[in-house]
Amino acid sequence: MFNDVEVDADTRRQLELLKGGLTIPPPANREKAARLAQIGSELSSMYGSGQYCREDGTCLSLVEVSAQMATSRDADLLLVYWEGWREVAVPMKPLYVEQVGLGNEGAQSLGFSNVSELWRGKYDMPADEFPKELDRLWSQVEPFYESLHCHVRAKLGEHYGEDTVPQDQPIPAHLLGNMWAQTWGNIYDVVKPEQEMQVPDVTAALKAQGYDELAMVKQAESFFSSLGFEQLPETFWERSMFQKPEGRDVQCHASAWNLDDQEDLRIKMCIQKTGEEFNVIHHELGHNYYQRAYKDQPLLYRGSANDGFHEAIGDTIALSITPKYLKQIGLIDEIPDASNDIGMLMQVALDKIAFIPFGLMVDQWRWKVMSGEVAPEDYNKLWWELREKYQGVQAPVDRDDDAFDPGAKYHVPANVPYTRYFLAHILQFQFHKALCDIAGDEGPLNRCSIYGSEEAGTALNKMLEMGMSEPWQNAMTTLTGSPDMDASTIAAYFAPLKTWLDEQNKDRMCGW
Ligand SMILES: [Zn+2]
Repeated sequence: MFNDVEVDADTRRQLELLKGGLTIPPPANREKAARLAQIGSELSSMYGSGQYCREDGTCLSLVEVSAQMATSRDADLLLVYWEGWREVAVPMKPLYVEQVGLGNEGAQSLGFSNVSELWRGKYDMPADEFPKELDRLWSQVEPFYESLHCHVRAKLGEHYGEDTVPQDQPIPAHLLGNMWAQTWGNIYDVVKPEQEMQVPDVTAALKAQGYDELAMVKQAESFFSSLGFEQLPETFWERSMFQKPEGRDVQCHASAWNLDDQEDLRIKMCIQKTGEEFNVIHHELGHNYYQRAYKDQPLLYRGSANDGFHEAIGDTIALSITPKYLKQIGLIDEIPDASNDIGMLMQVALDKIAFIPFGLMVDQWRWKVMSGEVAPEDYNKLWWELREKYQGVQAPVDRDDDAFDPGAKYHVPANVPYTRYFLAHILQFQFHKALCDIAGDEGPLNRCSIYGSEEAGTALNKMLEMGMSEPWQNAMTTLTGSPDMDASTIAAYFAPLKTWLDEQNKDRMCGW
């Protein structure tokens, strides 16, 4: 109704945000809208209650099979778990197909051609331009990803044999330490440099110094305080959940909340006392500080400049958890010299760079599905084409005709758009660089920590408090001086590792 009404630019922006606010908009018809809601909850619950059940009747939850995927080095067993978990998705397919149809009807009633156009249209540029922008960013990362892929495939070939890991083909998807082969940090032991690397053991340091869950959160808060951000409110400490409560089930997946859109900030986590979780706490607090920074914006502007920004903020801070910082807060005694950086960079790359093509392909698949470019009988085929094209991984066994492998990833049945995570992985390095420049850190990017820099904090806060009141390009300019997303910082951050990888790969055939 309001599409053609003449209003000022600011009102138009708010109307557009309102119109694009739903992920899967319901059709106007009440019965169809009710059916769409029912499908949504059924798909979520199929995933949430999903289990892998063995022939003897014992069943494993996703948490349990994921732990196996992370730690087992038995290719046959990994394959059993990999295939087993994907069984949960088979019955989702007819519901998913029906949902696509209903969602598209809803999108059309708002003036979009389909849900794909609605999703691609949320980035302050024409919906058809946005995928080209993503391709551009990916092309900046691709050469480094290929070097990493080449080394990892070679090492997996040494470990499992080249029959299992053919050196001229995509990597079988069950061997990378993660159910979806989306982060590879769990196989660091297989692919790490042979030379001994001194990498700070944060988990051990936390233990040695008697940090409990609360102390870990306090330490993370103090990072933000050192940048000049106001301390978290008293209610944060009273109302957050830091530990898994006794005697009742909770969703342990870490999350951050602002309950009243003002000061009622909380996180919900079952904190493990590890270095990895220490990072996650910073990630979650990043959400809280962002939420608080834009709380005075009009309601529709209280949000992330684009959806990648919110996920990127805490990670940006976590990139400053460097040995230099760990020494400053007394968690380690000595900063290992730069020759040890390859080990640390490898760990970061296995998680963050390995993720990037996965973060890209999930919505490449969904955009084609939602726009009807691919028919339901080809959904799974397209999924694996994209997995091969971008990630260079392949299904370890031929997939059955009724397989619906995308459904085995939470964000597909739950309808959470995924491009935000791709963007966040690009943006966090770009933000880190901008903040290090502002903080006056002149060393290599991977050794920089902005801890204690109020200048960096002020610059960051300027961007955060804009919320989504202006196109994200303006928020970007506020912090970085340029309106463009740019993945070239990744090459700079990982430069020492790239040199090392190229040396390792010089007699190998790379690519797939
Ligand atoms: Zn997050």
